[in-house]
Parts: sequence; structure tokens; C-alpha cells
Amino acid sequence: MTQRPGIKWIVSKCISCQACLLVCPSEALHLHEGKVTFNGNKCDSSHFCIQVCFTDALEKTDFGDNSKN
Ligand code: SF4
Repeated sequence: MTQRPGIKWIVSKCISCQACLLVCPSEALHLHEGKVTFNGNKCDSSHFCIQVCFTDALEKTDFGDNSKN
């Protein structure tokens, strides 16, 4: 198994502003019934979403922990 830097999505901090959705090049973030959802399997660790999220709902992890809390 290959380990790579990943992204941790903290649901409790997300306000579904959609800023991350607009900058994700791998379509790992989607809008579903008014809420933003994150698919870690699609994430290519570009980290653009982390740069635009102003609520700190997205965090860089050392390895492929594309999970949510
Ligand atoms: S930018 Fe942050 S607060 Fe906005 S939808 Fe994405 S994760 Fe949620």
C-alpha cells in the first residue's frame, strides 16, 4: 500500500460555503442536499481546498488519512 499526504475533513467545522468545492481539481468535494461532502478516495492531495477554507475544516495529514471527524 502506498502512503501519501492526505487531507482530514472536520465536518463539525464545515459551513458548506463551497469554496473548496470550486478549487478542487480532482472532484473530491461535492454538494449534496445543500451540504458539502468529501470523498477521500478521489482526493489527490493538491491541498488547494486547505488554502481557501477559512474555518479550518480541512487539515493536511502526514499520510493518506483522507478521513472525516
Ligand atoms: S471551504 Fe471549508 S467551510 Fe467551506 S465548504 Fe469547504 S470545508 Fe466547508
